[in-house]
Amino acid sequence: MAMRAEYIWIDGTQPIPYVRSKTKIVPDGTTEFPIWGFDGSSTNQAPGDNSDCVLRPVFSCPDPIRGGGDVLVLCDVCLPDGDLTPHPSNTRAACVEAYEKYADQEPIFGIEQEYTFFEGIAPLGWPDNGFPAPQGGYYCGVGSDEIFGREVVNAHLEACIEAGLHISGINAEVMPGQWEFQIGPVAAPLIGDEMWLARWLLYRIAEDYIGPKGMPISATLDPKPVAGDWNGAGCHTNFSTIAMRESFDACVAAAEALGAPGKPELHIANYGPGVELRLTGAHETQRFDQFSFGVSDRGASIRIPWQVEKAGKGYIEDRRPNANVDPYVVSQLIIETVCTAASK
Ligand code: ADP
Ligand code: MN
Ligand code: MN
Ligand code: MN
Repeated sequence: MAMRAEYIWIDGTQPIPYVRSKTKIVPDGTTEFPIWGFDGSSTNQAPGDNSDCVLRPVFSCPDPIRGGGDVLVLCDVCLPDGDLTPHPSNTRAACVEAYEKYADQEPIFGIEQEYTFFEGIAPLGWPDNGFPAPQGGYYCGVGSDEIFGREVVNAHLEACIEAGLHISGINAEVMPGQWEFQIGPVAAPLIGDEMWLARWLLYRIAEDYIGPKGMPISATLDPKPVAGDWNGAGCHTNFSTIAMRESFDACVAAAEALGAPGKPELHIANYGPGVELRLTGAHETQRFDQFSFGVSDRGASIRIPWQVEKAGKGYIEDRRPNANVDPYVVSQLIIETVCTAASK
């Protein structure tokens, strides 16, 4: 008997990488997955005359789609130099480095992934021309006039649980056809590993569903899928260190560190392409070129949840990352900014 291992990796497409996968047949009972290769000239990771890239397995879990004993194997991309040197498109390696430097502060992350279903040219449930009723009843709504795609969302949730991911919830979002799932809290780089696997599962599961217009459903991480008076899609990143989980002052210090000179610009530049289209100052956002933090403030860059103020300890929420942000990059940057300041 043989097992099917779906090798999954992140490509080099700019400005937004795609997630790719292919199947390797391995002997039954395999737990240590071998390195493998692919054609980097087809993924914007290598030139045609020197096209080999290396897949290094970094995380595996049960495959909830194939079932049986089959597995998903997340990989990072390395150069074919025999030393497994990280490829320039490999953002996981720097995330591991940041985590190892500050592991003593025990940083953990919970990320809220917002996304939008499309059927053809319009968001799922929308007319091809014109608009649905304005925002108001869709967020956490119920009923076929408010909710579009719940079947796919539930199938994705089941798959994440079966895969053993730390999925902690789902909800319908403010814009119709828009949804959210949350992963965490877990340490880095696991938060990035699980986020990328959950994204792959979302795309893969949506393949199997047809919308009311008779066309296939697809999921997108576009940060502003509809211009105008419609909410964008973000990737709120909740973060804490052991000190923050024990003291409110440490939570405030973390928010201040994120606002230190130069830091807002550095973070915004790495929080996903099109971040300035979403962070307009409207629709529960702070402007991309302004920084603020506050308790319960959904119009701030950083929100300190009210429970955290009440308990006098907990975590903070960075509301700025776009839905299309790389979770390895956002976790690496937050660790470096906050943990470096805290260790001074
Ligand atoms: P909201 O929509 O109100 O912003 P959610 O419930 O969607 O909140 O997300 C809150 C997130 O906070 C969850 O993903 C959870 O994992 C995360 N979280 C909770 N406690 C901590 C903590 N101590 N450190 C880091 N993240 C945390
Ligand atoms: Mn949320
Ligand atoms: Mn949300
Ligand atoms: Mn949030």
